Amino acid sequence: MFKNPKDNNIVSRLIFHLDLDYFYAQCEEIRSPELRNHPLVVCVYSGRNPDSGVVSTSNYKAREFGVKSGMPIKIAKSKLANEDAEFLPIDMSYYNHLSILAMEFVRKIADAYEYVGIDECYADFSRYSGSDFSRARKIADFIKSEIKVSTNLTCSIGVGPNKLVAKIASNFQKPDAITIINPQEVKAFIARCDIEDIPGIGPKNRIKLESSGIESVSHLAKFDLFRLKELFGYKIATYLQNAARGIDDTPIRPHVSKQIGRIVTLKNDVTNIENIFPILSSLSSLVYDTLMTRQLSFKTIIVRVVLHNLRQVTCSRNLKLSSTSIEELQNIARSLFLEAIHLHSLSFLDVRRIGITLSDLSSYTGQNKILQYFAEGSRNGNQESNKNNKL
Ligand SMILES: [Mg+2]
Repeated sequence: MFKNPKDNNIVSRLIFHLDLDYFYAQCEEIRSPELRNHPLVVCVYSGRNPDSGVVSTSNYKAREFGVKSGMPIKIAKSKLANEDAEFLPIDMSYYNHLSILAMEFVRKIADAYEYVGIDECYADFSRYSGSDFSRARKIADFIKSEIKVSTNLTCSIGVGPNKLVAKIASNFQKPDAITIINPQEVKAFIARCDIEDIPGIGPKNRIKLESSGIESVSHLAKFDLFRLKELFGYKIATYLQNAARGIDDTPIRPHVSKQIGRIVTLKNDVTNIENIFPILSSLSSLVYDTLMTRQLSFKTIIVRVVLHNLRQVTCSRNLKLSSTSIEELQNIARSLFLEAIHLHSLSFLDVRRIGITLSDLSSYTGQNKILQYFAEGSRNGNQESNKNNKL
């Protein structure tokens, strides 16, 4: 339908944006189904005191009471004071495992795949579908049911002729939904969106736009570009006007990140090496899981130590060859940490935060390791693999 009959070139792209619904909280509901009917809040505890930290994500039941991401745990607790609510610590290793299982399926069948985050990806299905939008629902249904079977997760999928429209569409009727916007519908679809539905427009930019009299997407679409450039600068103004018209030419970018890193704040009672090593191992597993999700190998490992006085000490090692070995990563992380302690004559009490970063990343070609990882996950089934992947 959208092919050029002469040379068979694809003339319209068919892009998916997939978003795993209320991801961390949904993962916890899968692990403990009895929590489904309760407000559930996944928290990043800073460890300073039992309630210090912020909300990472929450299920829809908790959202009904006004709980939001980024909110201090204390405030979330006060909002849910009269409810039988559950507050759980974040368990990235487990979420990573479910994310790998879910996203790997999309990555395998799509023409091109872009990792956006642990719960989000873009995928190009132009060739797969022959750019035939009438096939999009079947593909989306197929992906949703495969993800459901392998992980029990629900997701929302948006389909459009570009990344922008696909992203707005996936958010359009969350959760557990499919929204398909074919090329002929783009203009009308964008025009009925709220101005904050456009990625990059938040409350601040809305105010800025409104102060210039721009109150709707359709108004933004026809607003004088010269004046828009005066307000926002050339780059942003062009993006905004194109977005309001549903135009976006950005390609699917297979690998965008140059580094993968994680850092944690230590509790006050971490005073010796026996307590630090398990934390380094957990950090190694977290960065390794992300590395595997993106099918990358690493060549450089950096261990970062932040002291109580906020001074930073880093030690790094460059490998001769790219690696995908978690054992190598864990051993080097330990020795780099010890190197940092000895080189700078630090005591464990000085250490406030530690982090591991992998860089010099390149595409991972050997499939054995990752296939083995998936095979283990599916052999164990969801409940079993959850246990195995808990930190
Ligand atoms: Mg999500």
